[in-house]
Amino acid sequence: VGVDLGATKVASALVGADGRVLRRSYRLIRAAEGPSAVVEDVVSGVRACLDAGRPAPSGLGIGVAGQVDADTGVVRFAPNLAWRNVRLAEALSRDLEMPVTVANDVRAATVGEWRFGAGRGCGELVCVFVGTGIGGSIVSGGRLLAGCANAAGEIGHMTLVAGGRRCHCPNVGCLEAYAGGWAIAERAREAALEDPRAGERLVERAGTADAISAATVSELARAGDALARRIVDETAEFLAAGMVAVVNAFNPCRLLLGGGVVRNLPPGIVAVAREAVRRRCQPPAARAARVREAALGADAGVIGAAWLARERGAVGRR
Ligand SMILES: [Zn+2]
Repeated sequence: VGVDLGATKVASALVGADGRVLRRSYRLIRAAEGPSAVVEDVVSGVRACLDAGRPAPSGLGIGVAGQVDADTGVVRFAPNLAWRNVRLAEALSRDLEMPVTVANDVRAATVGEWRFGAGRGCGELVCVFVGTGIGGSIVSGGRLLAGCANAAGEIGHMTLVAGGRRCHCPNVGCLEAYAGGWAIAERAREAALEDPRAGERLVERAGTADAISAATVSELARAGDALARRIVDETAEFLAAGMVAVVNAFNPCRLLLGGGVVRNLPPGIVAVAREAVRRRCQPPAARAARVREAALGADAGVIGAAWLARERGAVGRR
């Protein structure tokens, strides 16, 4: 079983050994009621995707946005859930009576793409997921890079503009502060307030300027609104500039772009990054890098988490 625990909902899936999703379930979670309520929600989601007609799953993997200790299954810090030091593996394995593996959500999604998606068979892979924030993860020499504090891969917080826009992290000018979903919304609001005539349709669609979201921008860009188009084009350029830095730094064979923003903005964002990598990276890195869209969509997290659980079980039994 693979589980992807978000800030407001949990996705669970029964996943076959070939990475196929056999059954799935979604639940809203009661994050405001604290960890034990969320654990109950996860347990009920997992039970809903179990199938009495099939053998019991060999284990459960769960991806969580935040810092996790994979050895102990403790979530050290998950800001979106307001969790600190939650013993998630212990709580879930007690209720579900199966071994539980806890992973960072971006690493889990990267493993999904690496084992079963657009990164299959690739030992030098970088995945970048653009949603509300921007997360990344690197496979090098056939292994996930962990880093000294198990925090490697924060591609969203690479500095794109020294002294630039304020980020949600301690830095300013981060890639995420330009191209993350929250930043797209923020840039669109500012542009609409600066030029109310150009921003009229965005404000009208959203209700108020404050309510403009990345989804509003996406929708209006598809409908041909000039300001929304400009925001999308600028977002593609920011993301492309970040991907040039990533390819120069890690020299991957494949660079995958995924996440809700990449899926939902009008098509072309991946092509802009591909062209920037081809023209602006150091030549050996540029020649090696294949820039593609991630293949598993929103399923990458559950599929990767399930694979991690299966792999851990296999190591445990050896
Ligand atoms: Zn940042």
